[in-house]
Amino acid sequence: MQLKLYDTLTRKKRDFVPLDWGRDLPESERRVRMYVCGPTVYDFAHIGNARPVIVFDVLFRLLRHLYGEDRVVYVRNVTDVDDKINARATKLYPDESPDVAIRQLTEQTYSEFKRDVEWLRCLKPTVEPRATEHIVEIKEIIKRLKKSGHAYVAKSHVLFHVPSMPHYGQLSKRPLDEMIAGARIEVAPYKRNPMDFVLWKPSKPGEPAWPSPLGIKRPGRPGWHIECSAMAWKHLGEMFDIHGGGIDLIFPHHENEIAQSKCAFHIPRMAELWVHNGFLQLEGDKMAKSLGNVITIRELRRTENFGGRKWSGETTRLAMLQTHYREPIDWTVRLLEQSEARLTRWKEFAADRTVRKGNLHLMDAFFEAISNDLNTPAAFAEIDKAVNERGWDEDRYAVYQILGFLGFKRRKSRVAAAAEDLRKIIRNLGNFSQNDWKNFGLSVANRPTFKSGNFKPESKLIMAMEVVSELLHRLKGIGMLVGSSNELEALKRQLLEEALPAENQFEVEVRRLVHARDKARADRDFDKADQIRNELESRGVVVKDNADGTSTWELKKND
Ligand SMILES: [Zn+2]
Repeated sequence: MQLKLYDTLTRKKRDFVPLDWGRDLPESERRVRMYVCGPTVYDFAHIGNARPVIVFDVLFRLLRHLYGEDRVVYVRNVTDVDDKINARATKLYPDESPDVAIRQLTEQTYSEFKRDVEWLRCLKPTVEPRATEHIVEIKEIIKRLKKSGHAYVAKSHVLFHVPSMPHYGQLSKRPLDEMIAGARIEVAPYKRNPMDFVLWKPSKPGEPAWPSPLGIKRPGRPGWHIECSAMAWKHLGEMFDIHGGGIDLIFPHHENEIAQSKCAFHIPRMAELWVHNGFLQLEGDKMAKSLGNVITIRELRRTENFGGRKWSGETTRLAMLQTHYREPIDWTVRLLEQSEARLTRWKEFAADRTVRKGNLHLMDAFFEAISNDLNTPAAFAEIDKAVNERGWDEDRYAVYQILGFLGFKRRKSRVAAAAEDLRKIIRNLGNFSQNDWKNFGLSVANRPTFKSGNFKPESKLIMAMEVVSELLHRLKGIGMLVGSSNELEALKRQLLEEALPAENQFEVEVRRLVHARDKARADRDFDKADQIRNELESRGVVVKDNADGTSTWELKKND
């Protein structure tokens, strides 16, 4: 199966061949390398931020499937130095010193982001590097760019000089004047060219600051674009396989990453393929904080703000994948409802599986579609065909496998679930004491519960027995499906074995203690006898001493 991905740089769908697979490397040392721009941790991630997280998680899973789980290095960075962070931290924690305020804000936002993506059932990337931990690499790149004439110092800033790079703008392929207008580029008097962008800038008092490179006296901090060049370099090398992110990052962010990395390392390309996911709209409108038109992942997870109810991470995940990743998504309540119903159908279909063999044609059709530029709509249509039209036994197991690949929770098969229930009940039967058995049936008919309203053990037993007979009934049906009564026999033996020791061990232990106490009393060691009585008491056993020096015991009454 050949993975094809649409490459924004060449505007073509291209065969994906990892760089290491064309190198003279031992099989075990080959790696697939992917970098995806991650969150700026200043506020809760909105549902538009969830799109690249989910899309590239599926690509990560596909690469692991194709090349091996330990062969894929997926880096998703965390931007923890940024003007928006500074501004919000000061606003939220006006009484704290700026560095404490910033740390509080970024730590909190980042841990909330991690909860969000876990809820969306995304795998952890291999590395989640933070910008502030890569200042050394950032300065090294700046030094190299200055040395090769691509960067200059002006008013304590370091700027990348865009005209110094012959092919700037290849990713976005827009005329320069359009780029300038589109990006609302700041025209500053110290810039040699309006397109020049910041690699390093001086920090105002109270802002995070590091000693500046290139002999600049004022302490400063990195610009945004440089951090990704630095982190990709540190964790993936000068050139790597896939660079991903949202379509809104193409210009200027990714364009500038390319400029920095190509000019610092003198490489033909930064990444072999540039993969971008499309926009997300909210109920037909552009989602924008300024318009008050934003839904955060956290709101879907914890509130009823969207559609008057909470949603599951799985529903959200499937809803995001139902549209091809490059197409725009209109995020609506209707979309979530559809996705929820579809996922339930798939799961129920898979839960009815009775064979452990997947339909290879379905698997092939699914992976063929998903390997074709992550065509999830086509891949999901293959699942629907199996679920709604064919319904073969081997389709059920294939759907079970596909659900696992896509990161969805899977239900136990109904056979396994019934066996599990039965096991649980038999185990509970084993927990009833001899006394329970003795009293069984005496009072149930009159009063099934204690005054407290709790069921008496004997009532529970009767209920349990009813469930057992119900389950045996169901198992008989399934036994016919499996076609083997030996399996049923074996299961029964196993269940009985599990049930027995639980009761015996308790009794054996109680008898041992009672005997030890009798002996202590005979030896007139009353301290020891009392100690053992307490011990028995703590296990719910009451001991009564008989006149003849023997003793009897019973379980403490609950009533
Ligand atoms: Zn980036």
